Amino acid sequence: MALPFPFSAIVGQDEIKQALLISAVDPTISGVLIFGDRGTGKSTAVRGLAALLPKIRVVTGCAYSCDPGATAKLCELCQGGADRPEPKSRLMPAPVVDLPLGATEDRVVGALDLERALARGEKAFEPGLLAQAHRGFLYIDEVNLLEDHLVDLLLDVAASGENLVEREGLSVRHPARFVLIGSGNPEEGELRPQLLDRFGLSVEVGTPQDLPTRVEVIRRRDDFERDPQAFVAKWKRRDDRLRSKVVAARRSLAEIDASDAILESAARLCMALGAHGLRGELTLVRAARALAALEGKAEVGLDHLRSVAPSALRHRLRRDPLDEAGSTVRVDRGIEEVLGP
Ligand SMILES: [Zn+2]
Repeated sequence: MALPFPFSAIVGQDEIKQALLISAVDPTISGVLIFGDRGTGKSTAVRGLAALLPKIRVVTGCAYSCDPGATAKLCELCQGGADRPEPKSRLMPAPVVDLPLGATEDRVVGALDLERALARGEKAFEPGLLAQAHRGFLYIDEVNLLEDHLVDLLLDVAASGENLVEREGLSVRHPARFVLIGSGNPEEGELRPQLLDRFGLSVEVGTPQDLPTRVEVIRRRDDFERDPQAFVAKWKRRDDRLRSKVVAARRSLAEIDASDAILESAARLCMALGAHGLRGELTLVRAARALAALEGKAEVGLDHLRSVAPSALRHRLRRDPLDEAGSTVRVDRGIEEVLGP
């Protein structure tokens, strides 16, 4: 398997790195949408993050990567009886599963294993991409070109953490908890606002415009491609440090306090921006809490709100016919007005 480019070696791209780390700390934030041109390293960042995260322990031979330590939310096979012996397990990296454009619903949710049905007359379920993505990431390149009903389905499963397949005489339920990452090029079709709103965070990535950054990007890419192993070894300590931060943040997340004043600021910002629904506020507060956890803080501060507000809100703004400014500019303006400069 090819070595992924180390997450810490990615030059700049702070917003996407922050959003991905937040989603790794608190997967209930419902995924990340990444807008940007081709070749801006969107999938590199996702693969780098997955490689950096702690390995997961899975039941050997389980098609759903069940956690042997979990007692609830196991697949039917792993549930077994009370006298079930301790299952064999192994460690593996958090999966990153690519959902190819044009993938059928069967391929995504799983389907009747036709070969077995025809050869042996058995009704067996062949798990799909959702099963593979359990406990990792599901990456959809060009999510805006995917059929709406599939995006709906993916968001439903991502929110419930469970895939229920009832068709062709099969009835299968299996755990499918994953972070959904969708990337899209805004010039190639748009997502419906209802779908946009269901993604937790959104980020915009672009090609860096200043010379020194571009030179550094090329230098690191070139170093990596000439000797991937040496390059990964060189960045290992920084990746390790980041991994420890994520692990500590996951542990402390539940303890981190968001005061009434912080909740009020979050609500005032969403009102000022006209972000519809309460999902904006909720995501804003959760993302700020995850960021505070990553920084090892005991409580959420205004700076955390400020820092995550563009990612949490820019895709939830209503179009304003009297305001030509892009959504990022509008969020920045709102932050300055409501939270102060
Ligand atoms: Zn299992």
